[in-house]
Amino acid sequence: MKVLKFGGTSCGTVESIQQVIQILQDNIAKGERIAVVYSAMGGVTNKLIEIGRMASKGNVEYFDALKAVEERHFAAIRGLIDIKNQSSSIAKVRGLVNELEDLLKGISLIRELSARTLDLLMSFGERLSTTIITEALKARGVKAEFCDARTLIRTNDHFGYAEVDFEVTNAQILAHFARTDAMQCITGFIASTAEGITTTLGRGGSDYTGSIFGAALDADVIEIWTDVDGMMTADPRKVSTAFTIPTITYAEAMELSHFGAKVIYPPSLQPAFVKNIPIKVLNTFNVASEGTTVHTTSDETPFAITGISSIDDIALVNVQGSGLIGVAGVSARLFSALSRHKISVILISQASSEHSICFAIDPKNADRAKEVLDQTFAPEISAGDIDRDGIQIQKNVSIIAIVGEGMRRSTGVSGKLFTALGKNGINVIATAQGSSELNISVVIQKNDLSKALNAIHGVFFQSEVRTLNLFIVGTGLIGSTFLKQLSAQSDYLAKEKLLKVNVVGLARSKKMWLNPEGISLTHWKQELDENGKTTSLPAFVQRIREFNLPNSVFIDCTSDKDIIHYYHPLLDASVSVVTPNKVANSSSYAEYRRLQQTAVRKGVKFLYETNVGAGLPIINTIQGLMASGDKFVKIEAILSGTLSFIFNSFVAGTRFVDIVGEAKEKGYTEPDPRDDLSGLDVARKILILARETGVGLEMSDIQIAPILPDNCLQAPTVADFFTELENSDAYFAGLLQAAAEKGEKLRYIATLENGKATLQLRTVDADHPFYSLSGADNIVSFTTERYNSRPLVVKGPGAGAEVTASGVFADVMSISSYLS
Ligand code: ADP
Ligand code: ASP
Ligand code: MG
Repeated sequence: MKVLKFGGTSCGTVESIQQVIQILQDNIAKGERIAVVYSAMGGVTNKLIEIGRMASKGNVEYFDALKAVEERHFAAIRGLIDIKNQSSSIAKVRGLVNELEDLLKGISLIRELSARTLDLLMSFGERLSTTIITEALKARGVKAEFCDARTLIRTNDHFGYAEVDFEVTNAQILAHFARTDAMQCITGFIASTAEGITTTLGRGGSDYTGSIFGAALDADVIEIWTDVDGMMTADPRKVSTAFTIPTITYAEAMELSHFGAKVIYPPSLQPAFVKNIPIKVLNTFNVASEGTTVHTTSDETPFAITGISSIDDIALVNVQGSGLIGVAGVSARLFSALSRHKISVILISQASSEHSICFAIDPKNADRAKEVLDQTFAPEISAGDIDRDGIQIQKNVSIIAIVGEGMRRSTGVSGKLFTALGKNGINVIATAQGSSELNISVVIQKNDLSKALNAIHGVFFQSEVRTLNLFIVGTGLIGSTFLKQLSAQSDYLAKEKLLKVNVVGLARSKKMWLNPEGISLTHWKQELDENGKTTSLPAFVQRIREFNLPNSVFIDCTSDKDIIHYYHPLLDASVSVVTPNKVANSSSYAEYRRLQQTAVRKGVKFLYETNVGAGLPIINTIQGLMASGDKFVKIEAILSGTLSFIFNSFVAGTRFVDIVGEAKEKGYTEPDPRDDLSGLDVARKILILARETGVGLEMSDIQIAPILPDNCLQAPTVADFFTELENSDAYFAGLLQAAAEKGEKLRYIATLENGKATLQLRTVDADHPFYSLSGADNIVSFTTERYNSRPLVVKGPGAGAEVTASGVFADVMSISSYLS
């Protein structure tokens, strides 16, 4: 004997019912003896409740809504049964519909919808669907018989979620099946009291009906047919990468369903468990799938947990007060008061100080729970043992539970869970772990739910492939070079590093485009042109926050001054920031610190290696030395490619004015070369290096000895400037001459020593590491306690789109190593 149950999703349309009939005929063809339980057509139970509420409020529109429900059932008859066999089903359905109309008329007259009446009202859903499917089977020659479960399942009168009297029920079922060998078509969800009053088994309760019949009949298997390929590692509607769990234990299935996996109604597991009957969860729309088998043991898997589920809407109640400490029986009183009022508790968490007790309930019961607790603890509240505002209710929160017997065998599961949440800036409001070590639950803000589920699913089930979500602003030389490099590397990253890099947002000055599915790395220009909207940075940033994707990184490839105001809100929203733009780090020290601290507090990264010396590892070197406890004695640096070129080229036989002219022609300088020669850009860089070493300087603290004489600085135009430079030739030739006489060379060096930063044109002898510098290279020499007799030197090209973009790339890659 086999019991099959088809849910509302399987009984929802003519096509799906045809599929159900096909499955039944296949079973019959194989000679299986079967009994079948049906739910109401999908959505009908909800509709009936809605119509009942309308009627009870005297809203006459209930009538139209009722007509629509009726029509859906008549249409099913027309679709499933050929016209000459329709009359008996039409008569039966007409009879039920008339009864339903009378009931609703009654509800609208007395303006009341009690729990008892609601159960009767809801029962029509299963009675209608089962009647129609039975008739459709009979019309196909199947020896089928309609079975109203109200005549067999006996319950108490807890309307809405009645409790089954198994002794009576089992006896009635067995007696009924002994009387007939026709295939029973059983109404799910509904039952009745000893007085014959209709009850229901709780929403989703048709699964329970299946299990009650399966257990009573000692079935070989109970099959729950639904619209997904079994119980999955997470709700596939929320986590697109969820996959089927082939085998699972009753206990695990119980935990998963108790914490929201709607695919099985939790009480259904009990009767099957007691009789040791396997439950199979199968897909009506994909019969080839093996689905899930729920039994006493499950097969080994490579994963530490079996599945993740969530309850999207809960209310968290916190009872707090110093008077709770060490007082025996407080929790007993609390929970028995709730139980007397039929408020069921989903999760409890109590700190060991006993200063507060925190528990989760259905938000529908929140106000009632507050009243009950206020009453129960009135004496403690007036005595001040419980704080006056000590009973607090927090709404808009969700519970996520990770479930699996494997947790007992492996360590670090909760560490992994909390790390995944922490790295994504998801705050855990409360947590509970069952002592059976089968379940760890966390309570989080509802708007973090999707991000949390996906991040947790990622770490436990797809540890192989991690995803980084990038939002890039600025598609100029650096931005587009970065995209080009990324495109060239994406296959390598996926294969070798198991890393998927998803560009979700792109913005340039005119247009921006966001696509959570990912923007093409090869056709981004076209996508941006075709789909882009007018750029608005506030809107761009707002969307990043709304997407709330795990592992998000914002990349600022602009030199914009205003964009930096978004760094802080982004870091605060747990989005990492990577940028070559030095405006933020060279603004006030307070702002620099604030960004650093927010990143640390939120567990995200703020990376800017390319602020100084493009892709050269300068900031990373400082951070590494600082972290390992080294102390900086002195930093000397040539940090401008332009100035490096100018002074490396200014040798005997050349004129300073010609060298500057050549640099300008080659595009090394700003349009006005004085912007480079002023040293301001270098000052910003040494400022950042100083801050990295822990010296909290401001821009105004940097002492800049000017390279240019006053006449050059004051020349009104660029052309005048070159004339003045020519006029000052003797001055520059003199500097060069003086250096040469000492066997030294001219270099423009930024120095940080004793907490002071200076910029100066100096001469260096042949022993100095800067003496032999050539081209436009940058160089930094670190003298530290450990690198004392010989400094640590970093040298190389410190400008250019390729090296800067690759520095940005390296920063992004370093974030991937922290990924959850
Ligand atoms: P039925 O009408 O067949 O009873 P339900 O809607 O009650 O179907 O249950 C099936 C739905 O349960 C699926 O469509 C899926 O969205 C949801 N669900 C939630 N969690 C899970 C999970 N872990 N595995 C499978 N389905 C799940
Ligand atoms: N039709 C009922 C409900 O919607 C029972 C079920 O579908 O299992 O809750
Ligand atoms: Mg269901």
